[in-house]
Amino acid sequence: MSECIFCKIAARELPAEIVFEDEKTIAFKDINPHAPVHVLLVPKQHYTLLDDLPENEEEAGRLLLNVKKVAAILGISGGYKVLVNNGQSAGQVVPHLHVHLLAGKKFAL
Ligand code: 5GP
Ligand code: ZN
Repeated sequence: MSECIFCKIAARELPAEIVFEDEKTIAFKDINPHAPVHVLLVPKQHYTLLDDLPENEEEAGRLLLNVKKVAAILGISGGYKVLVNNGQSAGQVVPHLHVHLLAGKKFAL
């Protein structure tokens, strides 16, 4: 997936403000934040959709546990929103699975 921007960020071929990384996941600040805190958690392995994630509880669980970890690293208090836009009608723009972590304001939904 050489043309994928999130693969390129994971490979350090494109810059990003990285806030967390482990063997399987990279997390960086969204370039166009929708909240005072807006971080994207991205599996280093390219999956276009959540639907493409393999039936691997460890991998899927780790991604969600890393959301919790990043929220702690960032010192978020008062709650946060976790969001996946999965596919076109959901508004997914970047075709590499990612989890939005948003905080620092009151959300309607
Ligand atoms: P989606 O709508 O696909 O769920 O969200 C994609 C997100 O990726 C958007 O919030 C957008 O601002 C962010 N984004 C797109 N390109 C880049 C980039 O090159 N760097 C960073 N840090 N964020 C990006
Ligand atoms: Zn990718």
